Amino acid sequence: MIDLKNLTIKKAQDMMKAGELTSADLTAAYLKEIEKKNPEINAYLEVYSDAMDQARAADAERAAAANSGSSAALLESKPLLGIPMGIKDNILVKGKRVTAASKLLEHYVGSYDATAIIKLKSAGAVFLGRLNMDEFAMGGSTENSAFGPTRNPADTSRVPGGTSGGSAAAVAMDGALVALGSDTGGSIRQPGSFCGVVGLKPTYGSVSRHGLMPMGSSFDVIGPLAKNVDDAETIFNIIKGKDRYDSTSIDLPTNLEVPKKLRVGILPELFNMGGIDKAVLDNLHESIDKLKKAGVEIKEISIPHLKYALAVYYTIIPAEVSSNMARYDGIKYGSRVEGENLLGDYMNTRGQLLGREVRRRIMLGTYVLSSGYHDAYYNKATMVRNLLRNDFIDVFKDVDVILTPTAPSPAFKIGQNTNDPIKMYLEDVFTVTANLVGVPGISIPSGFTEVEGKKLPLGIQFMASHCREDILFAIGKIFEQLNG
Ligand code: GLN
Repeated sequence: MIDLKNLTIKKAQDMMKAGELTSADLTAAYLKEIEKKNPEINAYLEVYSDAMDQARAADAERAAAANSGSSAALLESKPLLGIPMGIKDNILVKGKRVTAASKLLEHYVGSYDATAIIKLKSAGAVFLGRLNMDEFAMGGSTENSAFGPTRNPADTSRVPGGTSGGSAAAVAMDGALVALGSDTGGSIRQPGSFCGVVGLKPTYGSVSRHGLMPMGSSFDVIGPLAKNVDDAETIFNIIKGKDRYDSTSIDLPTNLEVPKKLRVGILPELFNMGGIDKAVLDNLHESIDKLKKAGVEIKEISIPHLKYALAVYYTIIPAEVSSNMARYDGIKYGSRVEGENLLGDYMNTRGQLLGREVRRRIMLGTYVLSSGYHDAYYNKATMVRNLLRNDFIDVFKDVDVILTPTAPSPAFKIGQNTNDPIKMYLEDVFTVTANLVGVPGISIPSGFTEVEGKKLPLGIQFMASHCREDILFAIGKIFEQLNG
């Protein structure tokens, strides 16, 4: 029996190197867990039929390198050799179905590999399958999937968070060692927090968006969900970097140094803001105390425009969504429901094959961009987005990281927020700012709260300045240790 619960990339690599484990064994173990748990959890929309072939090929490569004495060089160039992972269903894998959990793309097959996938493939990863999500990454609970909700492994009457709910649940249920997600307003961090795993939203542009189905192009970023900070760091280091197919992509500076004594900023106004679950606030206080005891400097900060962040996000995002979704017209991609003429094709296809939340955002976005309203909504929101950026630049002169809860509540019940979109949007209050401003954020498990006899995971979020993932990894590892 492999101890999947406590397995990390490093441990798996050490065991494979020592000949105690093969990728085929490991992949088979994950496939078995998936077979057992997925019928209820619904984290995977598809398990790839060639997963075992990929694993055996990785084993053969390792064996060949051992014979020729080049094992070390092989692992250097392929740090993920034989490591089984899952992929969110909005990231293109050549020759595999990719649906964004939408009826409209139910039969769509990826015609090329996303840049992140190319990098993971050349690092030797084994792809187990594609993971459930909210349709086109709009939502916060994975209930907006056209293929049924994902359930939280900690309590199956609850959501796993979203939109990368399948990715978070897969890692939490030991259905993958790591997974890729995407984050536009919190979709990696919030499910990470709900499922008790680490979720990293990298700096905007640090990971290529080529091959990621777009939602809000000035927000979207691909990132990892993992068991610990170290694994998230490993995946980030593999997928990051400038890419000629994404003009907004960047290389991180290489001369960075993590300050010896980290200064953590907290927002006193959060404590009296209202709308935050008591367990979340208690957990935040405990987390701050632990960091203080460990010698981390805690400083009170203020972000004057923070109170507008959610409104700004939910003005700009629908605008970007409505233009990005225009490509799904029933002609270029995916399925079509024929109408009497071209307009009828569009109306039928989009009206019948897109879900409620996606249609709501297209309508909202079309509205905020329409002539007469453009200045009042979209332009104004863009101006406030700039003010927020300036706030963050100022704050990061005083502190190295900002600490907040990841989400205002632990995982909620399936169905609880589905008829109240505003309530669902409020879930994103702590996560959207990082996307508005482009800075990196990480959610780290910070304990549990017991509700109805079930231990529900909680998470805290650290945000750092642009390109300072190194600082997030440093503080994340400190916090992880404190939390035992
Ligand atoms: N909940 C947010 C939204 O619905 C986040 C989405 C995301 O990060 N993809 O917009």
